Amino acid sequence: MCVEGDRMTTKPPVAVVTGAGRGIGRSIALGLAKANFDVAVNFAHNAEAAADTCEEISRLGRRAVPVRADISDANDRAGLISETENRLGPVTLLVNNAGVAPAIRADVLEATEESFDRLVHTNLKGPYFLTQAVATKMIQWQRAGLIQQPKIVFITSVSAFAPSVNRGDYCVSKAGLAMAAKVFAARLAGDGIGVYEVQPGVIQTDMTEKVREQYDRLIFEGNLLPIKRWGQPEDVAQAVVAVAEGRFAYSTGITIVVDGGFHLRVL
Ligand code: NAP
Repeated sequence: MCVEGDRMTTKPPVAVVTGAGRGIGRSIALGLAKANFDVAVNFAHNAEAAADTCEEISRLGRRAVPVRADISDANDRAGLISETENRLGPVTLLVNNAGVAPAIRADVLEATEESFDRLVHTNLKGPYFLTQAVATKMIQWQRAGLIQQPKIVFITSVSAFAPSVNRGDYCVSKAGLAMAAKVFAARLAGDGIGVYEVQPGVIQTDMTEKVREQYDRLIFEGNLLPIKRWGQPEDVAQAVVAVAEGRFAYSTGITIVVDGGFHLRVL
């Protein structure tokens, strides 16, 4: 609560969404704005897309700031937290969404260390240490009464459990991230911070554009998905918004699957 003159107002909670200019992250940011969050819209390269997401959030009547930060870089991560705090306020919700696919899908017997390092740094080490830093701050902010019921979300992938032999680096990074969600959930439960894994299947974004025709065949002609359509960014955003709104208060550490039934083994 803050007092403006003699008028009492409740400040909206603040969310940080990494990689929120495009794709799933953009949808999450917009969903959170509709759920009354102010949003720090993180991006790495595409400033135009981040500005566009911010404009859309402003149209929804919420505050949004674009924050450039490469989440694989420690200084950038620190800057993301301080800039968000300075411009919007203490953070109630962190959504670790930013991620990359390998530039080239290569057989696991041929894929390079360079690709492995890029994926592990961006998809695993970045969110792991961003969470460490934000969670530490959340504990302090909560003790000071500045935030309530803080939460952290990790966007992983069905690749956390389903091996693809032509992108082992991606699968390994997401499997590690799924465990990171469990580790932080166990550590932070006693501090009143809920931690959740949201696990998307095949979602129609820039990331899957290169393999669109191949996945079209698997979805519409094959048996890849019981629900025969592409997942949309909004499908993932809905799950994150449900977490943000506190619908899973007694369920820390769960995995919320958003995959059209991909995980089902059908006989
Ligand atoms: P996308 O359309 O390729 O967008 C990726 C986003 O991540 C962009 O906003 C990008 O920022 C940001 N990003 C990339 N590297 C970054 C870095 N080092 N620091 C900060 N931001 C960075 O991907 P998407 O499909 O929306 O995927 C979002 C998340 O969902 C990823 O973690 C992905 O692994 C996961 N996922 C996707 C699918 C799928 O089928 N699409 C399925 C399962 C899981 P810029 O715009 O600045 O480049």
